Amino acid sequence: MYIFQDNKILVCNNNTIYFNNFNAPNEFILFNSDTLPASWQHLPQFIAVNNNLNFNTKNFKFIDLRQVWHEFGYDEFIRAGGARLFANWLINSKFCSHCGGRLEPNTHDTGRHCVKCSQNFYAPLSPAIIVAVTHNNKLLLAHNASMIKDLYSVLAGFVEPGENLEQAVMRELNEEVGIKVRNIKYFGSQPWPFPQSLMIGFTAELDESAYLNLKPDGLEISDAVWLTASEINDKLNNNLIKIPDGASIARRLINNFLNN
Ligand SMILES: [Zn+2]
Repeated sequence: MYIFQDNKILVCNNNTIYFNNFNAPNEFILFNSDTLPASWQHLPQFIAVNNNLNFNTKNFKFIDLRQVWHEFGYDEFIRAGGARLFANWLINSKFCSHCGGRLEPNTHDTGRHCVKCSQNFYAPLSPAIIVAVTHNNKLLLAHNASMIKDLYSVLAGFVEPGENLEQAVMRELNEEVGIKVRNIKYFGSQPWPFPQSLMIGFTAELDESAYLNLKPDGLEISDAVWLTASEINDKLNNNLIKIPDGASIARRLINNFLNN
C-alpha cells in the first residue's frame, strides 16, 4: 500500500514506496482490503495520513509526488498518482452532494453511492488537451506566466463542457496565442495527478490562411515562439530555456518533434 501525507508520499530509505505490511498508527486513515470492496481490489491500496502527523524518521521520509518519477520511474509515478487522487476523493467527499447522505463503496465498480438517494459518484477527472503545433519545421513553445522562469512547453488547457477534444484544441490555441490550426492528430494520453487531470495529447499544423503573428494573451501566456529543433537544442545547451521533465506528456511531445 501507498502512504500519503497531503501531497507527499512515504518512501523507505531502501527504495521502497509500496509497503506490503504496515501497522498504521491511529492517526492514519486506512483504506485497504478490510475497508474496500472486492471490485476495488485491483486498485493500488493506500493509507492516507493525518496531515499533522510528523512521520519523518531516519529510515522513512515523505517525498513530493513528482519526485516519484525521478526515484521510482514512470509507471510507479502514474500508479501512485492515481492512488493519491483516489485517496483524496475518499477523504474529501464522504457525503452526497444532492441530499447529504453518507456515501458507501459500490460492490460492482469503483464508484460510491448515496445510502439515502442512491445517486452514484465517481472519482473526479478533468480532461485537458495538450498540443504540439508545427509550422515550417518549427515547434510552437510558450512560457506560461505561472511556470518557473525560462520554462517553455507546448500549449495545454482544460476541456470545457460541450466541447469535443478538437474544439478544445482550436479554442485554446486561439485564446492563448491567436492562431488557427489544421490536421489535428491524436498523439497519446496520460493521467496527470496535479491534482486530477487526464492529459490528451495532439499534434497539429499551423493554418497559415489567416496567420500574421503569435499573440500571447499576456495573462496565461507571457511569451510564445517558433523554434527549430536545432534552435531548441542550442537554447537548452546554453541554459537559455528549460523544458518539462520526462514524467510529462509535454516532454514526450517535444521529444517527438526533436527526434523527427
Ligand atoms: Zn443522496
